[in-house]
Amino acid sequence: CGIVGYVGPGSTLDVLLGGLKRLEYRGYDSAGISVIDPEAGLQTRKRAGKLNVLVEDLSASPIKDAHIGIGHTRWATHGAPTDGNAHPHLGGAHQKLSLIHNGIIENFSELKAELLAQGTKFSSQTDSEVAAHLVAREFEETGDLTAAFRRVVNRLHGAFTLLCIHEDQPDLILAARRNSPLVIGLGDGENFLGSDVAAFVEHTKRAVSVGQDQIVELRRDSVLVTDFAGHPVEFEEFTVDWDA
Ligand code: GLU
Repeated sequence: CGIVGYVGPGSTLDVLLGGLKRLEYRGYDSAGISVIDPEAGLQTRKRAGKLNVLVEDLSASPIKDAHIGIGHTRWATHGAPTDGNAHPHLGGAHQKLSLIHNGIIENFSELKAELLAQGTKFSSQTDSEVAAHLVAREFEETGDLTAAFRRVVNRLHGAFTLLCIHEDQPDLILAARRNSPLVIGLGDGENFLGSDVAAFVEHTKRAVSVGQDQIVELRRDSVLVTDFAGHPVEFEEFTVDWDA
């Protein structure tokens, strides 16, 4: 029920866990994060229960901090609130892609049947996991992560805020929204994503509301917003007028 993303020179673990803490008011049953470190690669940790369960797990067995990552709190709609059903969900032959989702993918059973027929192994009961496998598969076929992501979001029905990162593109967060909220936080040499400004307001007050059926390509020094056909769209910045 909450989403946060960060790319920049700061501590990604601090930004993600701080953001998820600020999104707690939305309600949730599980929490998880993925970060990409150039040496350690993609590292993911996810736990059913309160954010503290995840925080304690991370302090008992730390993962290496990084400069890009995504975080999620889940309000289960498909699949029980378990560690395995918590997000992020991984995709690809080498599990190099990580994806988080808020909302409901209404046509997930058709998409899942298609993937199962091709031999894809699922590790959760969620509707969301199909998106991770579909993007990973398109990427393996085409080598273009943005095009792969765009193709897949066009196939999804329902409500979604999606964030996706891939070990082979460790400078890029892809995000998309339909019938579910997504906000960009603009920083100086760093950028943020959130399901609302609470996710990043302690770091920046400069924000952009992402429109319906739009995709964001977020890097440290650039923000590109397109429609679902890939055409760039203009966006307008606003200032968050509350104190962190
Ligand atoms: N439908 C997804 C699930 O059950 C996402 C739920 C959410 O919005 O947190 O895992």
